[in-house]
Amino acid sequence: MRIKKKILIPPYSARSIEVHKGESLYIVDIEGKQVGDFVCYNMHDYSEHVSPVHMRSSLSSIRLRIGDMLYSNYRRGLMQFAEDTVGKHDFFFPACDYYRYKVDFGVENHPNCHDNLLEALKDYPIDREHLPDPINWFMNNEMNEYGDYTIKDPLSKPGDYVRLVALEDCVCACTTCSQDFVPVNGMKVTPLELQLAED
Ligand SMILES: [Zn+2]
Repeated sequence: MRIKKKILIPPYSARSIEVHKGESLYIVDIEGKQVGDFVCYNMHDYSEHVSPVHMRSSLSSIRLRIGDMLYSNYRRGLMQFAEDTVGKHDFFFPACDYYRYKVDFGVENHPNCHDNLLEALKDYPIDREHLPDPINWFMNNEMNEYGDYTIKDPLSKPGDYVRLVALEDCVCACTTCSQDFVPVNGMKVTPLELQLAED
């Protein structure tokens, strides 16, 4: 793999990247224990995007295995889950947003993944009123035998990554999740890096 481009996502922010069919996107957890909320659109039809609820349906699962597709709201694979050094991710929870911090923690104007994703995608003609739910890379939710979730520190160590292969031309965006009230990110928000690669 030849790395063509690297984009650092500083803490409490997001960045977008175009990934063309056949290219790979690495999402690298530089310091470890950092969640990245991720959305992906079809570059030629922004009404199509990766959709976690359709993924849960098409996969009949709430976990990802190597080779699984990231399914869209049109039930097609836009990307493929190709490599993973961690083994634990989430596509159940929504992105943190203004209301998460306002309602649950009483804090105004906290940075949040929803607004950071919109900012990172400001140059693209997406439906800004209906941002898709994210895949939360490296997010570690433990489910008990009754189906209840507990959010734990991510299992990712410095340098851990996932690799996604584009099956269509895609516009992707990823955050460094801003949550610092509960241990989603190990209680410290740190950078991630996007790396674009080709064979
Ligand atoms: Zn977040």
